[in-house]
Amino acid sequence: MGRAFVYVILGGGVAAGYAALEFTRRGVNHGELCIISKEPVGIPLGLRQVPPYERPALSKGFLLPEAPARLPAFHTCVGANDDRLTPKWYKDHGIELVLGTRVKAADLRRKTLLTATGETISYKILIIATGARALKLEEFGIRGSDAENVCYLRSLADANRIVDVMKTCSGGHAVVIGGGYIGMECAAALVTNRIKVTMVFPEEHCMARLFTPKIAEFYEEYYESKGVNFIKGTVLTSFENSSDGKVTAVILRDGTRVPTDMVVVGIGIRANTSLFEGQLSIDKGGIKVNSQMQTSVGSVYAVGDVAAFPVKLFGGDIRRLEHVDSARRTARHAVTSIMEPGKTGDFDYLPFFYSRVFALSWQFYGDNRGEVVHYGDFPGARFGAYWVDKDRLVGAFLEGGSREDYEAIANAIRLKVPVKDLAELERSGLSFATQA
Ligand code: FAD
Ligand code: NDP
Repeated sequence: MGRAFVYVILGGGVAAGYAALEFTRRGVNHGELCIISKEPVGIPLGLRQVPPYERPALSKGFLLPEAPARLPAFHTCVGANDDRLTPKWYKDHGIELVLGTRVKAADLRRKTLLTATGETISYKILIIATGARALKLEEFGIRGSDAENVCYLRSLADANRIVDVMKTCSGGHAVVIGGGYIGMECAAALVTNRIKVTMVFPEEHCMARLFTPKIAEFYEEYYESKGVNFIKGTVLTSFENSSDGKVTAVILRDGTRVPTDMVVVGIGIRANTSLFEGQLSIDKGGIKVNSQMQTSVGSVYAVGDVAAFPVKLFGGDIRRLEHVDSARRTARHAVTSIMEPGKTGDFDYLPFFYSRVFALSWQFYGDNRGEVVHYGDFPGARFGAYWVDKDRLVGAFLEGGSREDYEAIANAIRLKVPVKDLAELERSGLSFATQA
């Protein structure tokens, strides 16, 4: 049993949706393109299969107590203010969706994929968009994260579960494990749902890979004012369970017992590369591609969280960026390269991360290396930081900016504006970027 397509996208997440739209804009014919995805949904929505959607909604609008975001409202590509690709859109464009289906083997020499249902799907060009999976506590030697009130967050099924578990804990208490993106956004969602939160993470402050201690202090104080308690510099070692198997407390390394009604875990991700190890070059935990998003095998491209690509702005350093903007842009670039070979320039990406929690909103552009200069009204409504390396601006963070402010810091990083005097940079603050 088998089907053949010209183009196959393996994975049905953010990058797949943006790639599909780009294919239609570049003139793909009906029946030429297929998307295969195992994306789990969860039964409560009455949907067993789901085409690509904007994953960032899952830790934001989806978890709101009032008027929560629900599909079909956040199918790709609404996150970039572009068309919303509903199941009907794929049908109208002659794109085959093979959903709820896991690919269990890939043979890049024969150009075939074998699904868990036993079908062989062949391609001329393959785009790997398999994203990543959430790391499990078990991978750190902690048992019991399969309890019904312990939640992870990667898929719609996971988000549905969090909503269900939150309903059983209103007025109660949650422990959030991990002080990264998932931890910060879920903690905000939990307290908005009137659940008190204790956050536990190993670092000295939240968002340790990006925030400076001074930036982190602002957010931690803000979170504390909303009812979040921080336990920093430690990890959990075990769970305590009730007779029906629910977690009732987490036990920390120093023996501290934190009673809880639910647990949310966000301790990082691993790119889904396993189907291709031994067949493709791997770097930075992802599939290595060139600046056309092409892997070490010419007929195979990789995009999104799974792709490790050269960042021109950082002298061609290979990076794997686990963020939605990178997924959207790498996907579009791969399709352009495929459809217009020879005419497509090198991918020139400005790394961009953001988050929105409570009434707060920040953006970051570039790289957080070198010397840091803080600016603005700390703690206040609009503040930020610059990173300066070899006398040039390489990174910029801003909380509470306007659209014009964010465009200005992005532009200053793109231009790598020279910095002569750090004290002058601090005095100029945001106007250094707006006047660059
Ligand atoms: P994914 O969107 O993860 O898609 C991968 C797809 O591949 C999935 O559908 C998966 O089921 C499928 N797949 C994998 N293996 C197989 C297989 N063997 N067979 C078939 N299908 C397979 N980034 C930001 O910049 N800002 C945000 O605010 C933000 N919020 C986020 C909130 C949450 C809750 C999460 C989880 C992530 C968030 N991100 C955010 C990160 C962003 O969503 C990811 O960077 C983006 O989804 C990556 O897109 P992708 O297509 O590479 O991977
Ligand atoms: P992150 O890598 O952001 O953060 C993981 C956190 O967990 C870190 O604080 C890490 O510490 C900590 N940690 C690691 N191991 C343990 C452990 N055993 N016990 C306790 N804490 C631990 O990953 P997330 O899970 O938060 O996010 C997953 C993905 O989702 C990322 O790709 C992220 O980009 C994406 N996402 C992005 C959002 C955004 O851009 N706004 C929003 C939500 C998700 P350490 O650093 O020491 O390892």
